[in-house]
Amino acid sequence: MEHLIEAPHEVPVTGEYDVIVVGGGPAGVSAAVAASRSGAKVAIVERYGYLGGQATGGLVILIVGLTNGKERIFKGFCEETVNRLKKLNAAKDIDSHVLFDPESMKYIFDCFIEESNVTPYYHCFVSGTIMVKNRVQGIIIEGKSGRRIIKGRMFVDATGDGDLAKYCNIPFDIAPKNDLLPVTLGFRVGGIDVDKVRKYTTENKTEYMNLLNEAGISTRIGGWIQTLHHNEAWFNISNIENINSTSCEDMTKAEIQGRKQVFKIIESFRKNIPGFEAGYLIDTAAQLGVRDSRRIKGKHYYTNIDLTKNFDDTVALAPNYTGTGNNPIQIPYGCLVSPKSENVIFAGRCISISHELLDSIREIPCCMATGRVAGTASAVAVKNSTQIGMVDVNSLRECLKSSLSG
Ligand SMILES: Cc1cc2nc3c(=O)[nH]c(=O)nc-3n(C[C@H](O)[C@H](O)[C@H](O)COP(=O)(O)OP(=O)(O)OC[C@H]3O[C@@H](n4cnc5c(N)ncnc54)[C@H](O)[C@@H]3O)c2cc1C
Repeated sequence: MEHLIEAPHEVPVTGEYDVIVVGGGPAGVSAAVAASRSGAKVAIVERYGYLGGQATGGLVILIVGLTNGKERIFKGFCEETVNRLKKLNAAKDIDSHVLFDPESMKYIFDCFIEESNVTPYYHCFVSGTIMVKNRVQGIIIEGKSGRRIIKGRMFVDATGDGDLAKYCNIPFDIAPKNDLLPVTLGFRVGGIDVDKVRKYTTENKTEYMNLLNEAGISTRIGGWIQTLHHNEAWFNISNIENINSTSCEDMTKAEIQGRKQVFKIIESFRKNIPGFEAGYLIDTAAQLGVRDSRRIKGKHYYTNIDLTKNFDDTVALAPNYTGTGNNPIQIPYGCLVSPKSENVIFAGRCISISHELLDSIREIPCCMATGRVAGTASAVAVKNSTQIGMVDVNSLRECLKSSLSG
């Protein structure tokens, strides 16, 4: 590939914070609120014009993985969010899951950020870091206002894709393209008789799968569910394979292919599924549903052999879908930090875990839990002027306990 040299130029510094959270998904919002509640001056930077990541823009409107099969293991920020959604009549329990309205989630996240005095930077893409040795001094943000720098003392990478790992040369893993979980373009449909459609898809599984295959969908990951409204459903069934979400070219291909699948599916369902005859597309997700990309190789790299272990530095829990070992999975602090960085911590689906166990940690409740840990730990590190990897985990666990509901 040809390379050109960009002329050196001065870049304005637009702000300075104790903690900067990069990425405004479930992990990032939880991190920003936790850091602020722990006394830090915080900013959150998000490339789109709203918060929530996959849970809002990706139309992932079902919070799953709230229990270990018996009891609720998620409290903290996830519980607070669900309570607020319910107050707005924007969520309901479905078995052990919570179905919600994504626009209400955007609004609630704005409120959390405002109430916590976190400075939001929406419409800002983080494209790089300014480093001195293993320490980040600031991040480079790009947008309509041009290229700017925000300086900080601690940084939370909640980008889902581990972008700061890439910018800071922190080791990470990414599965080979053909092993990556498929990317999905979520969509909502109105005007259908949900009961009739459900009856058909449950009683005619083979025919239903054939319709999906004919629309170019070969994998079986995903499903569909009625939204909070009558005659309306959310479909999480388009699957685009061989997509690396850190490649603009692949993501361009996925957007186009995803939309093609959605239009083909709707046309086919209208013709073939009783109750779908008058179905119309309400929307496709503003951002592609990415399940799988970079995972850091942190101080602790969680693998199958850890499933039976109890860790002294457990800071979060996740459901164990393997059917083996302890239930739930205990996530040690070492999965969030890297020996290669003094002041970056990771949260959400890019933490240090093997590919085969990714499903356990990538659901919304666990992302919020690791976000809360990352935000709290960053504030503690600032207060004590320590490196992020040297935070005293016992006192961190005390802080997490004491701020369980606040
Ligand atoms: C199709 C699909 C279905 C799923 N189904 C479920 C389900 O039913 N229930 C469930 O609980 N979970 C489900 N999940 C998992 C869950 O939605 C995600 O794993 C979770 O939202 C990840 O949270 P996160 O905060 O780590 O990342 P994300 O939600 O991806 O948020 C990352 C945020 O960072 C921003 N960002 C990224 N890079 C930059 C940058 N360089 N600069 C600025 N901003 C940046 C993004 O715009 C985004 O807002 C599903 C996921 C997918 C894709």
